[in-house]
Formats: sequence, structure tokens, C-alpha cells
Amino acid sequence: MFSSRRKAVTVAAAACLVLLAPFSASVSAEPTSAAQDPAIYTVPNTDSTSRTEINRTGAQVIGVRDGVATVEATPEQAQRLRAAGFVIGEGTGLGEALQRINRGQAAPGDFPPGYEGYHNYDETVAELDRIAGAHPDIAAKSSIGKSVEGRDIPVLKISDNVGQDEDEPEVLFNCNQHAREHLTTEMCLRIADRFTSGYASDPAVKEAVDGREIWVIPIVNPDGKSYDIESGDFQGWRKNRQDTTGTDLNRNWGYKWGCCGGSSDDPNAEDYRGTAAWSAPETAAMRDFIDSRVVGGAQQIKAAIDFHTYSELVLWPFGHTSDDVTEGMTQEEYDRFARVGGEMAQSNGYTPQQSSDLYVTDGDSLDWMWGQHKILAYTFEMYPASGGGLDGFYPPADVIEKETTRNDAAVDILLREAGA
Ligand SMILES: [Zn+2]
Repeated sequence: MFSSRRKAVTVAAAACLVLLAPFSASVSAEPTSAAQDPAIYTVPNTDSTSRTEINRTGAQVIGVRDGVATVEATPEQAQRLRAAGFVIGEGTGLGEALQRINRGQAAPGDFPPGYEGYHNYDETVAELDRIAGAHPDIAAKSSIGKSVEGRDIPVLKISDNVGQDEDEPEVLFNCNQHAREHLTTEMCLRIADRFTSGYASDPAVKEAVDGREIWVIPIVNPDGKSYDIESGDFQGWRKNRQDTTGTDLNRNWGYKWGCCGGSSDDPNAEDYRGTAAWSAPETAAMRDFIDSRVVGGAQQIKAAIDFHTYSELVLWPFGHTSDDVTEGMTQEEYDRFARVGGEMAQSNGYTPQQSSDLYVTDGDSLDWMWGQHKILAYTFEMYPASGGGLDGFYPPADVIEKETTRNDAAVDILLREAGA
């Protein structure tokens, strides 16, 4: 019964996903010319089953609204879609789409005019240092490990008596697994700032900081983030920077990795799962960090949100199956996910649904956090609800405050639920 109800919700909802497909390495910022350049297509009347089918041709669903899917495909993949019976019109070249966003005015390595409010890698690290320096009693910065190119993946711990490992429920917020989803870094910085600067004045913040241990990881994919902006033009980059083609970090986690047709074994695909589970050092670092929070046989992290853009969704496990109840998920557990997910969505206006209602994915963080550690783990797809393709990944900086504070109440709900 849950299935049919969920399908109706999906079709009616704005959707798009974590899973969002991006642009391949071959995409340049020049107007489209090469015959093999990917393009964006519109596919009407889709559901989770047909969207999964679309992704299995090698094309990628990058957004869905009211059942209309926005799909990225090379000419060859577009042919496969047509052969499979999908009706698709003329595509719009991705290079053209990128050129509309890029204005050629950015200093290399930094965000262009209109985007100055975003933090690049160095600015994010500096901001974490500033916070830890200003609030040494409740905030401490460290690193969970290094990226392919040797950048630290910083983590900020926020709690009273921050230097001690107290027996308090722990909550993890992580951002920017996907390189071009820059708004998510700002979301994690919002959490870091709010739970430190508000400690002295906001009773709710004080209660959370005193009663929880909060972990914030603003950039899981520092190389991909840096690459996306290093030329001065956005690249539309999604994956990490391993082996030139990159690995989709959110298909590289080790719970039922590659099990179910929800990721690709083609290194050129945007959802390339890597050569093995944990083959990306960034996911391996996340695994080691989360594993390290098992103390006395009990996982201390009770709840988590993995932030992505875009589509305005609250998603819960599992992604690898469209079943609600399955190995590792009882009806009671599912109902808790749906209840808390619904409450958070009520607070921010997102659409709540099981991850696989968008399309099937395997090897994502959500499935591992729950499947391996029973962490009440959600994925948020942030603003916008729909973006017409690439534009949705690059909202101007003037939305940052509104779209990050929009999730304050949902963050509070999760912090509360971590103690339940
Ligand atoms: Zn994402």
C-alpha cells in the first residue's frame, strides 16, 4: 500500500536527485559543436521505473517535475533511449547551457561575479578555523583524511566540553559529495555558524550543543569542488578527480555496492561507481570516520543528513530497492523514516519520499549509513525545486541565506530525534 501512495506523491512532486547527472569531462564551455557532446532532453510522463530505465541506458535523469524528466545524454545514449521507446525531442547542447551561466569574469579558483558569497575550498577551511578559534570551548576542527589530490577533508565538532568524547547522541551533517553542488557547502557552514555563534544567546542552540555531539563536514569532495571553479568558468563537474574521469562518490559506498542497476561501470558515466566499493579515498575517509564513532560496540552517530542539490526533496533509505520493507528495513523502521522525514519536509516545504521513488541507486551514502550502522540517515536535495537542467546547480549567491536558514527547523528536528 505504501508503494502506490508513494508513486502518486512522486509523480506530483518536484523531483530530481542526488543522483543527478551532470556533465562529462568532455563538456567544454564553448558553444556545442562536436557531434558527441551531450545534450539535455525533456522526457514527459516518467515514473520511478522509467527513470531507472533511462539511467540504465547510460543517460542521466538530472531533474524531474510533475513526471517530466530532464535528461542528459550523448547522441549515442539518445539513440538508445529512442530505441527503448522513449519519445525525446531535440536536445540542447550542454556546452551551450554552461556558456549561458558562465560570464568569463571569474578569477581562476574563485567564484565569478554574482557568486562571491560562496566559499571555495580555502575559504571554507578558513571559516572553520575562524569558528574554532572564536569558540574554542565548543568547536574543534580536525580532518577525516585526504582527497585524491591530497587535500584534507575537514570536520568540525561542536559540543560542550568539545575536547572530551562525552556520552551524548551524535549527529552528522555532510555536504558537497557532488562537486558542483556548491550551495550545500554553505548549508554546512550555516550549521557550523549557527550552533557556535548562537550558543550564548539562543536557548535552543545551547540545549542542542550541550546535549549532542554535532559533526559537520562541509566538503566531502574538495578536489571536485576546486576543479569545478579553477578555470574561472563552471565546469558542471560532479565526480571526484580520480583517474581523470572521476568516480561518483555517492555510488562508491559499500552497502550493496553496484548491486541493482543503480550505478554505472562505465568510467565516463556520471554515476560511475568506481573499480570497487571504497575505491575513492574520500568515501573511504568517510567510512573510517563513521566506523570510528562506534564506541563500546555502539554507533554513537544516531542521525545524519547528506546535503545535495537540487529538487527540494527529503529522501530516506533505501535507494537500491523500491521495496519499503526489505532486508535491513522493518515496517516500524520505515514508518519512523517516513514520519520524521515528513515532519522535516513540513518545516521546509520540500517533498518527502523514499530515495528510490526518484530512481534506483546503489552504493550511496544513505543506504550504507542505515544498512551498516542504523543511522537515521536522510538526503536533502536543496533549492531549487526545478532548474531546467544545469542552471539548478548554480543559483546566485543571493539565495544562500534564505535557502540555508530554510533548513534550520529540519536540522533541529533531526537533532531532537537523535535522542529518541
Ligand atoms: Zn548530489
